[in-house]
Amino acid sequence: MSRHVTNIAVLGSTGSIGRNALEVIEASEGSLQAIALAAGKNTALLKEQSQAIRPRWIVVADPEAANREDWSDLPSETELLVGAESIPRLVAEPEIDVVLSAIVGRAGLEGTWAALDAGKTVALANKESLVVGGPLVTRLARRKQASILPVDSEHSAVFQALQAGRREEVQRVVLTASGGPFRTHSKEQIAEVTVEEALAHPTWDMGPKITIDSATLMNKALEIIEARWLFDLRPEQIGVVIHPQSIVHSLVEFIDGSILAQLSPPDMKLPIQYALNWPNRKAGVAQRLDWSQAMRLEFEPPDEDRFPALGLGLEVASAGGTAGAVLNGANEEAVAAFLHGRIRFDRIVPICQQVLQFHCFDPEPTLEQLLESDRWAREEVSRWIGA
Ligand code: MG
Repeated sequence: MSRHVTNIAVLGSTGSIGRNALEVIEASEGSLQAIALAAGKNTALLKEQSQAIRPRWIVVADPEAANREDWSDLPSETELLVGAESIPRLVAEPEIDVVLSAIVGRAGLEGTWAALDAGKTVALANKESLVVGGPLVTRLARRKQASILPVDSEHSAVFQALQAGRREEVQRVVLTASGGPFRTHSKEQIAEVTVEEALAHPTWDMGPKITIDSATLMNKALEIIEARWLFDLRPEQIGVVIHPQSIVHSLVEFIDGSILAQLSPPDMKLPIQYALNWPNRKAGVAQRLDWSQAMRLEFEPPDEDRFPALGLGLEVASAGGTAGAVLNGANEEAVAAFLHGRIRFDRIVPICQQVLQFHCFDPEPTLEQLLESDRWAREEVSRWIGA
């Protein structure tokens, strides 16, 4: 009898989550296999990964980057596909069991959508899929009986803790936040923050977009929205607590007052590994807590005055409809503007607030309308900061 092998498509294989996922897959001793890889423009690393793994398919989303690369030494069994439009076709391939959706930003939505539409299990690292398209994406998953397994560490923690009780026994969910590098900064100090300072996260090693989002706490705002759709919670059931050590990844409070949490060192390999092996647990390569060392875990309420993103997250989670697409589009554009030195750090969140106020809200949008709201929000931001 042959051993069961889970065939995985890694969308975003050259990013931080993708690289961690390939380590987890390699350590699985053959029970997990990456048979498809997709990347944006880092063709050098994608080629290296392909030579090591020998996948069936690889996708380069950026055609110009694909054209610049010499592909003559690609393994003979690997087929090269060029252009982001190849991704929806690829994820529907019958051999693929699990799609790891780890492309950053709104660009990750198409892959998530196509995978769910094909009835695949999606290990979801791309929170924007739910922030932008929450109600539509979760409805699609139900209709196609496709599972969405969270890879975001907070949501993986909630997903694990929820298994200790029944749905109707859940009082609330508390997402932990490291507080980012400016947790103890005054408003005045936050206004002076440089790109280099914002890119130095104290506990997590991540890509630039999510690192800036962690510094503004917009990442937590997006995670509130993600949790609302993923676990079908009411916005008032979602809280945030600042926990600088990033050891407790989130908590679930039940109606009797019991609180269950998931703890581990800040290492994305654990939530990735949990999602890829679900419903089983396997020994793996994730770091472990060292209980022989003294350790201190601190918790404090977030300061919404210095970090106004959190209030915005709850507002958007309540509104639903097009609000998530607008917030996310505006934020992606504002973060890019900050990284290019075009706006100050403390302008990112107020710009998102203003764009949300100006947008024409639709409570029941189609997918096309969501993508249109996203485009509109980006254009608004570039128009405002260009003026
Ligand atoms: Mg997270």
